[in-house]
Amino acid sequence: MAFENLTERMQGVFKNLRGKRKLTEEDIAQVTKEIRLALLEADVALPVVKSFVRKVRERATGFEVSEALDPAQQVLKIVDDELTEILGGGESQLQKSPKIPTVIMMVGLQGAGKTTFAGKLANRLKTEENARPLMIAADVYRPAAIEQLKVIGNQVGVPVFDKGTDVSPVEIVKEGLELAKQNKNDYVLIDTAGRLEIDDKLMNELEQIKEVANPTEILLVVDAMTGQVAAQVAKTFNERLDITGVIVTKLDGDTRGGAALSIREITGKPIKFAGVGEKITDLEVFYPERMSSRILGMGDMLTLIEKAQKDFDEERSIELAQKMKENTFDFNDFIEQLDQVTNMGPLDEILKMIPGMSSMPGISDVKVDPKEIARKRAMVLSMTPEERENPDILSPSRRRRIAAGSGNTFIEVNKLIKQFNQSKKMMQGIMNGDMNSLLGQMGG
Ligand code: GDP
Repeated sequence: MAFENLTERMQGVFKNLRGKRKLTEEDIAQVTKEIRLALLEADVALPVVKSFVRKVRERATGFEVSEALDPAQQVLKIVDDELTEILGGGESQLQKSPKIPTVIMMVGLQGAGKTTFAGKLANRLKTEENARPLMIAADVYRPAAIEQLKVIGNQVGVPVFDKGTDVSPVEIVKEGLELAKQNKNDYVLIDTAGRLEIDDKLMNELEQIKEVANPTEILLVVDAMTGQVAAQVAKTFNERLDITGVIVTKLDGDTRGGAALSIREITGKPIKFAGVGEKITDLEVFYPERMSSRILGMGDMLTLIEKAQKDFDEERSIELAQKMKENTFDFNDFIEQLDQVTNMGPLDEILKMIPGMSSMPGISDVKVDPKEIARKRAMVLSMTPEERENPDILSPSRRRRIAAGSGNTFIEVNKLIKQFNQSKKMMQGIMNGDMNSLLGQMGG
């Protein structure tokens, strides 16, 4: 899987920070050094690495120590923000022309995955927008390319226009566009020729095609496995053709992921899709935020951190934690905690955001039924203040009274008290152990 090494490295970085209450200058120096190494190892282009590290250093040095997050979490947040930024910020949609057809031109080096991507995109437009695309086979130098596009076209049920290998690509494109107009195709996807390396002749030809086709999108297809080379290729293509977006293919492969991280910064152009396999459906919209979380190996950990920051009453949480530690946690606190959890949203959703949890068997069965919470609440509210503060006095007769008072059975009241005692015990264990339990889940 792409980014694996980077992910591992990054997790190492955060592990070293875990448990610290304050960040010293040495800590920051150490962290930025590690990040720098991690990015270089991932084959990210040097200028990109430099500017990235500088930004992280500046922000990490300047941050206010927040009460809600410890330094490891704060640095994680900064790195995530900056990663998201260099990956392009938000997602980038495919542009449409106001008049049909929208012309999309695929360019790139040979073997990058242009033809495959043309097929994937055609399929996507067809299935998601109910569109009627036409593909034009303009790669006349690699005879197999035309055949390959026809096979893919056939597979996805999209027509392919070709004129063999004896007509010039510019001529083929002109005729193909005429046909698309006649047939009222809403999209035209042009598969152009690639070379093993960039040469002037290829660029000239692409410039000519651009001129006759006037494309809304010129999508450069690059192979993620080529790392810095991909970034360099992107730079050159962009200078000559003013591309509108980049497609990074083979992100499923054993890549270091550097290409994806360098391209945006170097070209200023967004990555629009990622190819994640050889199948026609192996195409994903490129979401910088998700990619960043994936690189950092956090599942949606950040969303969770943000949620916790937003929804939890910081001081009150600390007080409750203290009570658990001192074993003075009672039913009043219990009810308060129930409310906090209810405010945060469905528990199963929250659990799934913790890395590694979503793949745990049975996780989808963890449902917190709001009715269940309401019932527990009712039972607690049927207790006297004394009982709530001192659950040890809950004798069978008191339990029976509570059951009757709250419209529950004796068994249910017993269950609640048992649960309360169990979680109290468990929480006490956690509280007296590693308080950094949230990040502790990361990477073990
Ligand atoms: P072109 O020369 O740029 O048109 O490249 P092709 O579309 O012929 O792709 C070259 C090779 O890469 C083919 O074997 C494709 O199956 C493969 N390929 C393309 N995209 C992906 C991808 O996202 N993941 C993987 N694993 N293979 C891909």
